[in-house]
Amino acid sequence: MIVVAPFLFSKRFRALAVYPFIFVATAADARDAVLVQHERIHFRQQKELLFVFFYLFYALDFLRNMFVYLGNAHKAYRYICFEQEAYTFEHDANYLSARKLFAWWKFLG
Ligand SMILES: [Zn+2]
Repeated sequence: MIVVAPFLFSKRFRALAVYPFIFVATAADARDAVLVQHERIHFRQQKELLFVFFYLFYALDFLRNMFVYLGNAHKAYRYICFEQEAYTFEHDANYLSARKLFAWWKFLG
């Protein structure tokens, strides 16, 4: 379910997936197929990690990346394994039907 909630967002972020909701900043974002596909990939990751482990690993990978990229928060975010999978396949509408379980694992680097 897509919820338009502009108050949740800054200029840097446009969407947030918290299964079963995709929160977006604007009505135009709700119609953005690439953005919605990106968030649906996060849904799959969240479900296979029973939600709590998704948020835990997401935070740990971000912190690890903050060390690796010397405090560059944007890079630390972009190189989170879950974001890498979502950005890599957000343009592929068929990705989720062929995706293997724990596909984010190969983006851990
Ligand atoms: Zn993302």
